[in-house]
Amino acid sequence: MTRSFLFLLPQWIWRRSFLWAALMVLILIGQSLLVILSIRHEEIKSQEQVEDLSSALLTHIKHEISNEVRNTQSLVWSAHDNSSWRDNAAHLLNQSQLLLQLEHRTHSLELISRLTNESLIPNAKPDPIASRLISIENACSSAKRLQKPFFSSSYFNPEFAEIGIEVIDFCIAHAMPSNQTTFTIGTVGLHQLLSKSVSIDTQKRHEISLLATDGARLARIGMQRGKSVFVGKRSLILDGSNLDLYVDSSAARPSFIPNLSIALVLGLSTALCAVILLLMRDTRERSKVETELAQSLAFRRAMENSLSTGLRARDLTGRITYANPAFCHMVGYSFEALQSHTENGADPPYWPVDRRQDYRTRQAKRHIDMGSDISSFTHLQSNVQGFETEFIRHNGEIFPVMIYESPLLDHQGHHTGWMSSIVDISQQRLMEGQTRHQQERLQSVARLVTVGEMASLLSHELNQPLAAISSYANGSLNLLHEPDEQTLPMIQDALAEVANQADRAGRIIRSVHDFVRRRDKSHELISVGQLMHAVMPLIELQARKIRTQIELHMPIPELKVRVDRILIEQVLINLARNGIQAMEQISTSDSRTLTIDIQPTSESRVQFSVQDTGAGIAPEVAAQLFKPFFTTRTEGMGMGLSLCRTVIEQHGGTLEFASVLPHKGCRFWFTLAIAPNP
Ligand code: ADP
Repeated sequence: MTRSFLFLLPQWIWRRSFLWAALMVLILIGQSLLVILSIRHEEIKSQEQVEDLSSALLTHIKHEISNEVRNTQSLVWSAHDNSSWRDNAAHLLNQSQLLLQLEHRTHSLELISRLTNESLIPNAKPDPIASRLISIENACSSAKRLQKPFFSSSYFNPEFAEIGIEVIDFCIAHAMPSNQTTFTIGTVGLHQLLSKSVSIDTQKRHEISLLATDGARLARIGMQRGKSVFVGKRSLILDGSNLDLYVDSSAARPSFIPNLSIALVLGLSTALCAVILLLMRDTRERSKVETELAQSLAFRRAMENSLSTGLRARDLTGRITYANPAFCHMVGYSFEALQSHTENGADPPYWPVDRRQDYRTRQAKRHIDMGSDISSFTHLQSNVQGFETEFIRHNGEIFPVMIYESPLLDHQGHHTGWMSSIVDISQQRLMEGQTRHQQERLQSVARLVTVGEMASLLSHELNQPLAAISSYANGSLNLLHEPDEQTLPMIQDALAEVANQADRAGRIIRSVHDFVRRRDKSHELISVGQLMHAVMPLIELQARKIRTQIELHMPIPELKVRVDRILIEQVLINLARNGIQAMEQISTSDSRTLTIDIQPTSESRVQFSVQDTGAGIAPEVAAQLFKPFFTTRTEGMGMGLSLCRTVIEQHGGTLEFASVLPHKGCRFWFTLAIAPNP
């Protein structure tokens, strides 16, 4: 199970595990090698020290022996007879720390005198051992033949120092004044030789021995036993005798842990491992951050390239430091061209030449305004300000743009320039123009429809004043046939009435004319009283036709609104006309009442309400009421309510309606903002 699971691991995990294992093995090998080399180095150093010590001791020992031999020689040469020999010998023994005994012998080696060194061997027995004579004989014959001091081989003298001492003799031949050759034989204690030659310090850490050529130990010195690990061996070659000097250090093989250098090596290599691990972690984190950065850079680049909004950055001198492809495409210049154009703070090439001065002033002012905010601002977004302006493309086309600009801060919060996003709004402007144009056309069509509807009403209305004018005019003409003092005032009254009726007819015509006339001004400040005064004649015109009663409640006619007067008038006329038409079906004219109510709903808004007593609105009609071209009337166009709603929404309000009671009519209302008193 586990095995199959392990095989499922991705390959990169295997590779990484293998690399880790290889690294660990390498570090272990490296550490072991370091330890081995370090131990080896210690061993070599200790061995070298022993070798050096052996050579130095050998030189020292040789020096001590030759000193003694030389001193003995001078004794021999200065002695004329046996008594002077004895005096000199006693003196010499007194001085020496090596010589145990001096003998004076005849040419046939018979003993003449023997003196022992009392300070070195206080209880020496007087008789020499017999076997010694043979080796003395050899040494002395050689000394005589070669005319130089000669040594015997070493031997153990049990007579000395109670337990016996290993010694070596040397023989010096010399001719006495009587021409007879005599021999002086000096006996050197090997232990004394070592004591004299080896310092206390060396004795503390080494065991030093003199060995016979067969390896037998003859004498040893040293406060500790040698460990036979670091040893030095030197041959002490004397004329007639060979000995070996054997130096054995009391130091054992370097042990593993207490050794300082090994501890250092281990510590350092452990620290090295830790550093490598930390470095690896650091590298891993760094590469992770780098990958994330590369990804976010790629993401940013893809985002910038896909944007249809232009992005542009400028430094404080005005030089363009960045422009995305959308902006370059918008203005028709490459980024390099934009950058070189704006070098040294020159104007950008997409500013129309004749407006550059204005743009420069505007930009400087805006930067001062925004720059003053930087020290205190905490929310960058709050500083993004949008404004509209116009740029010129490389091909000479001027187009409108919307610019949102904010200060550019570096990672330490220092202000380094400006970042702007630029939206080409030429298409938007085009669409807006088309929509406006269409709306205007629709509105004028709707107005014409209304006028058409009114034409019949108008002829009916004008009939009355025209008939009155006609009858007054005829009456006046009749009176003029026989003018007298009584008829004159009557004629005057009749003419005044003619003028009055003509004025009324003129007002009727003017109200229609005013409505149809294209407006000059869009938004104007107007009181609700003025507004109603303008529309009431037209509403009354329609109401009179079906004998509808009109009730107008307008407690504060001075309330002012800033509106597109003609459009709001048309809304009011439309709503009133719809109400009147809804009431046409009702048979009794007593119950036909159109109530127009204009009341403030708050300090800032005024509500216009038009309520009729018609049949109300059926739910299926209510669902489609505001749809363009929806109508239930055969002669209707279905544009009235749709236009009304658009107009009210353009003025920041909503057009609402409600059926008052089932079959008790319907109420439409909307609100407008009250214009503050100047
Ligand atoms: P039109 O007047 O040309 O029909 P409108 O958009 O003004 O177009 O009205 C659409 C429809 O809404 C009308 O045909 C009518 O059925 C209904 N309607 C509008 N106002 C009222 C009202 N006050 N009472 C009942 N129905 C109404």
